[in-house]
Amino acid sequence: MDDARSIPTSSPLTAGGCHGGRETMLEAAKAAGKSDAMAKLMADYPRGPHDQPQSMCPAFGSLRVGLRMRRTATILSGSACCVYGLTFTSHFYGARRSVGYVPFNSESLVRGQLYEDIRDAVFKIAKPEDYDAVVVINLCVPTASGVPLELLPKQIEGVRIIGIDVPGFGVPTHAEAKDVLAGAMLKYARLEAEAGPVQRPRGAADERPKVALLGELFPADPIGIGQMLAPMGLGLGPSVPTREWRDLYAALDSVAVGAIHPFYTASVREFQAAGRPIVGSGPVGLDGTLAWLDGIGKAANVASAKIDAAKAQAQGAIGAVMAACPIKARITLSGYEGSELLVARLLVEAGAEVPYVGTACPRTPWSDADRDWLEARGTHVQYRASLEQDMAAMMDAKPDLAVGTTPLVQKAKELGIPALYFTNMVSARPLFGAPGAGSLAGIVAGQTRGAERFRRMISFFEGVGKGTAAGYGFDGVPKEPPGARDRLRKARAAKAKAEALTGEV
Ligand code: SF4
Repeated sequence: MDDARSIPTSSPLTAGGCHGGRETMLEAAKAAGKSDAMAKLMADYPRGPHDQPQSMCPAFGSLRVGLRMRRTATILSGSACCVYGLTFTSHFYGARRSVGYVPFNSESLVRGQLYEDIRDAVFKIAKPEDYDAVVVINLCVPTASGVPLELLPKQIEGVRIIGIDVPGFGVPTHAEAKDVLAGAMLKYARLEAEAGPVQRPRGAADERPKVALLGELFPADPIGIGQMLAPMGLGLGPSVPTREWRDLYAALDSVAVGAIHPFYTASVREFQAAGRPIVGSGPVGLDGTLAWLDGIGKAANVASAKIDAAKAQAQGAIGAVMAACPIKARITLSGYEGSELLVARLLVEAGAEVPYVGTACPRTPWSDADRDWLEARGTHVQYRASLEQDMAAMMDAKPDLAVGTTPLVQKAKELGIPALYFTNMVSARPLFGAPGAGSLAGIVAGQTRGAERFRRMISFFEGVGKGTAAGYGFDGVPKEPPGARDRLRKARAAKAKAEALTGEV
């Protein structure tokens, strides 16, 4: 196309990103030469009942992985509004790192200048004294327009260049977007390691065989997991996503990998290509910990006496804490972090009744043990759960405590049900081993004790505006112009009819 003014109505520029309709964006991406990239994303991150992001922009997951790594520059290529939201969220979560951005307009996009601008930016920033790696992330519009990041040089003066497509119409959750970048980095590092000697990890004095973990964990958890592995003669390797490039080699060099977060499909593929066995679930509660230690020990070819010693150590410590911290409550649980089944296991083992657990992440083999365990105890497990399913489950189960995402918690509070954000509950406390066994009881008890307060809140806010009139009420909810809704409905129906007649999308 040589005239930027003649952008077709199916162009990603007119389709409107995550509001523009995924099929339109997918078609545009395929037409622009991204068929292989889109097919890979569809295979790794299969769709569920919801086909649009129901939480934050998925690309935030990749961005966060890049921003958490030392000596790594992260550059976004996307619409300014998307980049504004992503940088805002990054700094809200304390990134303390610059986010690179290569802006574009309709002309630079359709003429191919955007790719040239990205290439220039990469050459400017890729200085070995500053960086080990430069990550470039294509958001929705550049992906749908076929901006070919795969043509970027693989390295510049030794600085690795990683270009990835992370469109909202191809990656359903921000959790899985972490895997897109982690998997791309592991692949790069694996090929480097296969080609010749690579950097040793920091503090490599510990010669024990290591177990690598998949997933972002609460900082105290890896320490506790390391202590549980010690009786088997195993050390703890890095968690993926890693905090620096050289840790990728150490992770690939592990004897076994614990897929604590089960949705890291691309990363698992790289570990398997390196010949590393994968163990699902995690050391959560007593049952979960004993089964996990067994699985890890066998995968790492540890003698059964040593596995038994590790299990005996865990049993003593965890059993006592579980007995001292019982949970008596009916709880529904939903989230998009990927650890929902593990948290549900811990709650059930502590005595809670959990009729429903929903996760926005897909089903993979690495959560099968948790699903089987939960289903055997009467919990309905919903993968790729939509917000609507989570809400329906909560309203049906009438729990003492609803743990979930922001809109679910809002709905629960409207109904007078005590509620808690899943992310707040799990991100600030340990989940595994003995520390995890005692961590949830206090917070559940504190929230359910407040049930009467929630019921009082309903009567206090009675009559206050909701939906479009939210925020008004004590002085009167604004009145709608008479007939406005009806006129809008008719106008929309007329527009849809006209578009159907002209065949316009
Ligand atoms: S990049 Fe994210 S915010 Fe932007 S259109 Fe895509 S999904 Fe929406």
